[in-house]
Amino acid sequence: MDIIKIKDLEVFGNHGVYKEENILGQKFLISVDLYGDLSEAARFDDIESSVNYGEVCQFIKEETQKNTFKLIESLTQHLATNILLKYTKIRKVQVEVKKPWAPVLMPLDTVSIVMERKWHKVYLSIGSNMGNKEKNLKEAIALLEKDKYTKVKKISSFIITSPVGDVIQDDFLNGALSIETLRNPKELLDLIKEIEATLKRERTLRWGPRTIDLDILFYDDEIIARKDLTIPHIELENRMFVLEPMVEIAPYVKHPISGKSIEQLYKEKSN
Ligand code: ATP
Ligand code: CA
Ligand code: CA
Repeated sequence: MDIIKIKDLEVFGNHGVYKEENILGQKFLISVDLYGDLSEAARFDDIESSVNYGEVCQFIKEETQKNTFKLIESLTQHLATNILLKYTKIRKVQVEVKKPWAPVLMPLDTVSIVMERKWHKVYLSIGSNMGNKEKNLKEAIALLEKDKYTKVKKISSFIITSPVGDVIQDDFLNGALSIETLRNPKELLDLIKEIEATLKRERTLRWGPRTIDLDILFYDDEIIARKDLTIPHIELENRMFVLEPMVEIAPYVKHPISGKSIEQLYKEKSN
């Protein structure tokens, strides 16, 4: 990816833990690396296809001055996410906020925080087998779209599938989605649990009937094995109701552990 670099932009702001810092203000030096594809802009020598760095500097200044944070951690994250939300050509950003006048009562050059944030590519499976199933799926998708940090990119067709497991229950309506999100895996899991709660999913029986079930299938190429979160989803390759909608929207996406494509996994499962 190409990079636009802005180094040590000087902005006067009121961030700090101490009251004096909030009242008097101090100098901050802000550096950003903006990652994106600039080849179009270069080929046509056209600023419209690039990101106007003068505008970005102005935006950083405004955002630094209109907010007051206690921590430069908060300012750094605020700048990173808001740059990504405003400038859609930028896929990844690294922000460094330096505080040269940090009140530590010792001589120092600067204290700084560095953060990298980017748009993550994520696949979700979605299912419902209670009430108006199609309406439930559409409402869940609308709630994902409503989240400031998440964009729904692709939606598969919805397919009717028979329930798996021992619980006697109605057929499911299943689908798969691709989304882009600024949320980390834990923050994304929180969002899907919130959406499930909003749509009145009650956790009574495991694998029992539900108005809505959202599972994270892939999150970039990440492999996560924690008590509350397994990515890629552990049952992905065993479930036709996941593979069939996935093969429609993402046949060439590869499982980061086996290296097999969705199409391959689908064919293996069909045999
Ligand atoms: P299954 O995971 O076999 O499809 P389920 O979807 O019915 O079962 P839930 O009751 O919805 O299970 O979720 C149980 C827990 O699974 C959640 O509280 C969540 O913390 C955890 N979990 C682990 N990995 C994932 C993942 N990749 N996506 C969603 N939830 C996950
Ligand atoms: Ca599930
Ligand atoms: Ca689930």
